[in-house]
Amino acid sequence: MRAAPCDDRVVRILVVEDEDAIADPLAEGLRREGFEVSRVATGEAALAAPLPDLVLLDLRLPDADGTDVCRQLRAQSDVPIIVVTAKGEEVDRVVGLELGADDYVVKPFGFRELLARIRAVLRRTRPEAGTGVLRVGSLEIDVRARRAAVADRALPLTTKEFDLLALLASDPGAVISRERILREVWNTEWLGPTKTVDVHVASLRKKLGDARWIETVRGVGLRLAPQP
Ligand code: CA
Repeated sequence: MRAAPCDDRVVRILVVEDEDAIADPLAEGLRREGFEVSRVATGEAALAAPLPDLVLLDLRLPDADGTDVCRQLRAQSDVPIIVVTAKGEEVDRVVGLELGADDYVVKPFGFRELLARIRAVLRRTRPEAGTGVLRVGSLEIDVRARRAAVADRALPLTTKEFDLLALLASDPGAVISRERILREVWNTEWLGPTKTVDVHVASLRKKLGDARWIETVRGVGLRLAPQP
């Protein structure tokens, strides 16, 4: 295992992509968002590169099968990996064969979608670079330990309930859209009826012991309303 980087100020992303037409605007966009970006065009170069904070890995590489590169990267470190696949291909293999990737995006993807995935993966895998322990009113969320408590009472949350609460608590008072919640907590772009979200919200409210903690803003999304 290679050691994890300890410089938390800038998140370093390694883009592994052989097509300049994709890699160049992508790298530029990520730099604009404040990431430090390096780019390689082959699997060999990806495996030889200094360990970044996150790898964006195209599966179609000129010198190697991206799935092998993914496995080898995973064998070397626990660096977060987002796999980039072509439409209709590979997704089953990526998801089903447990390459060790943290998420995937399908080409052609929108930059905002990718950005959301990157941030979600970083929040899941590298919470110490973000907020660590969140305190909102009497609510305390330890993102690294995945523990939440309200007024020192531990909350027995499911994975999705925790992710949802942590997302809302990451920006207390702000309305978080259902689209963003679905994207970041459920990893889906599905914009149909969002009953799943409602079921989890109802359960969360119950566990928090006060329904006012989570406010529904009709037609928009949800807001965490800190309670004393
Ligand atoms: Ca490619």
